[in-house]
Amino acid sequence: MIQEWGPLSQREKRLKVFARWGYRCATCGCPLGDYRTNAQLAHRIANTIANRHHYGAEVIDHEENLRPVCSLACNDAQNIGGRPQEAEHLAKRIRKMLMRGREKNIS
Ligand SMILES: [Zn+2]
Repeated sequence: MIQEWGPLSQREKRLKVFARWGYRCATCGCPLGDYRTNAQLAHRIANTIANRHHYGAEVIDHEENLRPVCSLACNDAQNIGGRPQEAEHLAKRIRKMLMRGREKNIS
């Protein structure tokens, strides 16, 4: 299923997140090599229907909520779903960034 990311395509966003993390796993730090092979994008706040409803798709799909990882184990380690305070804090930070982005577009 192809999902739209808004102004950035899914591929563009993926590449941006990988570049930002130096093409290394955000959990264990190992090099991710070619982005098409073992590497995957982890969601800090999991991409579930409940979370999309609670936090909003813009927060779940935001690059701040994404981390490049090398394996399912490293993917799981990025999930902050079991730490609601941390998740709320991250969501708040992303909403602020989204608001700032919109202000920039208006002015
Ligand atoms: Zn890893």
